[in-house]
Amino acid sequence: MHLGFLGLGNMGAPMARNLLKAGHQLTVYDLSTAALDALRAEGAEVAASPTAVAASGAEVIITMLPAAAQVKTVYLGEDGLIARARPGTLLIDSSTIDPLSARAVASAAAERGLELLDAPVSGGTGGAAAGTLTFMVGGSEAGFQRAQPLLAAMGRNLVHCGASGNGQVAKVANNLLLGISMVGVAEAMALGTRLGMDAKTLAGVINTSSGRCWSSEVNNPYPDVLPQAPASRGYQGGFAAELMLKDLGLATEAARAVRQPVILGAVAQQLYQRFSRAGGGGLDFSAIIQDYLDEDGA
Ligand code: NAD
Repeated sequence: MHLGFLGLGNMGAPMARNLLKAGHQLTVYDLSTAALDALRAEGAEVAASPTAVAASGAEVIITMLPAAAQVKTVYLGEDGLIARARPGTLLIDSSTIDPLSARAVASAAAERGLELLDAPVSGGTGGAAAGTLTFMVGGSEAGFQRAQPLLAAMGRNLVHCGASGNGQVAKVANNLLLGISMVGVAEAMALGTRLGMDAKTLAGVINTSSGRCWSSEVNNPYPDVLPQAPASRGYQGGFAAELMLKDLGLATEAARAVRQPVILGAVAQQLYQRFSRAGGGGLDFSAIIQDYLDEDGA
């Protein structure tokens, strides 16, 4: 299939690579020349603008951009994908943005007779490289069916979450819980060790008891509890605290729009905001435990 792909960053570049590997023809666009050069070297055709991607003959166009502002820039306006895409083009936005913006851009597409699916992902850069991402998809059943074979080249779990915007709703709700649960595990591990318990033994008890969750079992924030976790390699790699801050912001903004209280989410957002300001934004989000430990990590 001939595909368009815009946004070749940490996630987009490996996703585009997997589409090339699956035998698709790709026309790509990014603001970064280095990102474009890398994909050109692997066989993609480079376009000079979103308009050029829309005019390239691509049957499906995928975007993987930082935030709602860039999504609106690329899709809306006279030179945007929606105005320029040929009739019948399927548009798929995999960026993580707030559900209300996703619905607004999708209805602008619908006004031109185009379907725009929201299809945010989880699984991080490792999942993007391995082609094992989870896609949470919002849009029509027919659109989901059309997208499925393409998404399968980049991901393993493809979930149709319902109507337009619901993919982003699922992503925002999950990451709201993840941010809160990580802070909870950090508090429990810090308290237990402060009271004299061995960190590995404590994690073992939690992980066979009712406190067990992904943050305790797979990404435990206490150093050297899990050899493969970011906490055991100086919090390098993993899911950046800055991105968790972004996702908690999306959750609290979406909650404000519907007057839904997210009390623990707001507290978690403030903790990550302070952590980011203090310089921790580039560390894995489990590093939030540093706010509960002494400087020597005890
Ligand atoms: P990134 O900053 O590495 O990449 C974004 C790319 O978009 C960059 O190459 C940038 O040059 C390009 N870009 C920006 N504005 C553009 C424009 N107007 N036109 C064309 N290209 C433009 O970001 P990322 O880590 O790849 O994340 C992308 C999205 O995926 C974000 O919404 C993020 O929240 C989400 N996400 C990231 C991760 C992760 O672990 N990195 C995991 C899940 C979801």
